[in-house]
Amino acid sequence: MAEHESLEFGKADFVLLDNVSMEEFMANLKLRFEKGRIYTYIGEVVVSVNPYRAMNIYGRDVIEQYKGRELYERPPHLFAIADAAYKAMKRRNKDTCIVISGESGAGKTEASKYIMQYIAAITNPNQRAEVERVKNMLLKSNCVLEAFGNAKTNRNDNSSRFGKYMDINFDFKGDPIGGHINNYLLEKSRVIFQQEGERSFHSFYQLLRGAPDSLLRSLHIQKDPKAYNFIKVGGQLKSCINDGADFKAVADAMKVIGFTGDEIQTVYKILATILHLGNLTFGVDGDVTLIENTKLVSVIRELLSTKEENVEKALLYRTVATGRDVIEKQHTTQEANYGRDALAKAMYERLFCWIVSRINDIIEVRNYDAKIHGKNTVIGVLDIYGFEIFQNNSFEQFCINYCNEKLQQLFIQLVLKQEQEEYQREGIPWKHIDYFNNQIIVDLVEQQHKGIFAVLDEACMNVGKVTDEVFLQGLNTKLAKHAHYTSRKLIQEDPEVFSNQCLHHFMGYARYSVVGFIDKNKDTLFQDFKRLLYNSSNPVLKAMWPEGKLRITEVTKRPLTAATLFKNSMISLVENLASKEPYYVRCIKPNDVKSPLLFEHERCRHQVEYLGLLENVRVRRAGFANRQTYPRFLQRYKMISEFTWPNHDLPSDKDAVKRLLQGCGFDHDVAYGKTKVFIRTPRTLFSLEEQRAEM
Ligand code: ATP
Ligand code: MG
Repeated sequence: MAEHESLEFGKADFVLLDNVSMEEFMANLKLRFEKGRIYTYIGEVVVSVNPYRAMNIYGRDVIEQYKGRELYERPPHLFAIADAAYKAMKRRNKDTCIVISGESGAGKTEASKYIMQYIAAITNPNQRAEVERVKNMLLKSNCVLEAFGNAKTNRNDNSSRFGKYMDINFDFKGDPIGGHINNYLLEKSRVIFQQEGERSFHSFYQLLRGAPDSLLRSLHIQKDPKAYNFIKVGGQLKSCINDGADFKAVADAMKVIGFTGDEIQTVYKILATILHLGNLTFGVDGDVTLIENTKLVSVIRELLSTKEENVEKALLYRTVATGRDVIEKQHTTQEANYGRDALAKAMYERLFCWIVSRINDIIEVRNYDAKIHGKNTVIGVLDIYGFEIFQNNSFEQFCINYCNEKLQQLFIQLVLKQEQEEYQREGIPWKHIDYFNNQIIVDLVEQQHKGIFAVLDEACMNVGKVTDEVFLQGLNTKLAKHAHYTSRKLIQEDPEVFSNQCLHHFMGYARYSVVGFIDKNKDTLFQDFKRLLYNSSNPVLKAMWPEGKLRITEVTKRPLTAATLFKNSMISLVENLASKEPYYVRCIKPNDVKSPLLFEHERCRHQVEYLGLLENVRVRRAGFANRQTYPRFLQRYKMISEFTWPNHDLPSDKDAVKRLLQGCGFDHDVAYGKTKVFIRTPRTLFSLEEQRAEM
């Protein structure tokens, strides 16, 4: 425990509070925030409060202070947790992960970047060129991913609109030799629509404000965002983001990572195509649907390197197979609009996934040395969208919030539940600590056959009428009695809204509108578009759309729905995290106005409550910092005591451990379980280590 810090700054570890109550917790959190101490521990968990100002605590000098030190030796810091994860990985050859959670704007992405910077700074003392190259690429990848995956929202000027889990691979020396990024569900609806006060993804504004005139000319793009329907809303916003400079930084980062010139040009062409698509309008002449601004079709054709007729055809017709016949069916204007929007969203999503996979190709572990030695451990860093509840919540918020429920469940499993179960199993006297277990909410969403996702998939499979209304009815029939589900339909006869209390535990009440759930879940993109893009003579674009190769009669399998894909990806993410030794950063957002001065008491209290931090303190306080089986403990420390070195003649290993610890005067700080010895404070362990080293 970090005890050395002056009490003027409050308690550096919540475990040291005189009384574990909400009042004391909040008073300590507030005091530390006001004194510029944004980090506080709960044992090995870091609680972080977003300072909303530049802090002078991330420099080289500070890094040096944390390097190789034990957690409790220095004031609380992200660097200490990064170092702990690194040490565990290196010393014990264990895969570790750092899970960063908190609501939108709480500081997760910033924290993940500081952690990566720290790891980069403390590794590769020998300055091996290959390792330096890898490190540089890992750090640069953040800049590119943020440009394409982040956007200004009403909660956060740089909000992550995708989930990111990054593994960093280390060789036997503990140096980074590669990495891998998993990305989760990008909020692609943002490509065509933003709420008032929000923007589309940064990449669009960066292109408009930062690209040289010659590039813009070749893309037939003008500088003013207001000229483009898809980004109009956000285009009017003055933002604190420097799009122009960022454009250059991203282009440079892409070059450093190893994107080719052709690849980068294709990225710009795709962005421009999407902007032009947004300006396409459809009309009717008799019973013929047509494109009103045909000039744009030529521009799009040029950017996509396809044939003009093909672009027009894909926008206006759909090829359908009826039995053995293949016919071309003309779109209504409504269908044409839908198709255009779906194309824009799909192109952007595909572009984003392609960028991630290109980065992965390049940063993948190449160091054969490491493979030969067979020792290749990883540290995973998870920075995923924080939960959010807006005025209007749709499918995306539903997925994001479900994801946060899953992560909360993991935290409960790992930090609260397992810990208590182990004490019980080992027969250590223990008073059970109550906490809210959100498994019931996770089940409500993901359970087979009766969860919300299952009901949604079922509605999508309907051959007859497939509407959001059908989905809502399904929910109401199946879930009416569920304690965490309420339907407005039942209460107010409001056909468009279903409200579910499944997130009650988190933020009180999340109201979702069912409108768009069916479409977003089915996520249909007409095969004609896929074929169009696959048939491009631009090899980079073509490679993004391999499924365009299929003819309509060959497309038989119904693709998995967006909800199912997301659910599966979340389940495997959680499995992956659970297989590693986890370290936690819990981020708190102090106010809604991005102020460095304001600590809104109620807002913070609420977060402390739903993050389960008080329960965390209680479990931790009643608990033990370290535990080891008796044989393992003896193996490591038996040289300290004359009774155990070189061997003991006591009836059991347990007795030997007791004898050893009594001899050192640590008996009061430990408990003896059935198979393990439990050590309460890290300091005891530290002294044992010191004594061992002196032998
Ligand atoms: P989202 O879920 O929306 O992605 P987030 O939790 O990732 O949110 P960040 O983007 O990390 O939030 O933080 C929001 C903003 O808060 C940052 O852009 C920055 O201005 C400020 N901020 C966060 N952490 C720090 C910090 N440690 N020091 C200074 N400013 C910070
Ligand atoms: Mg973020």
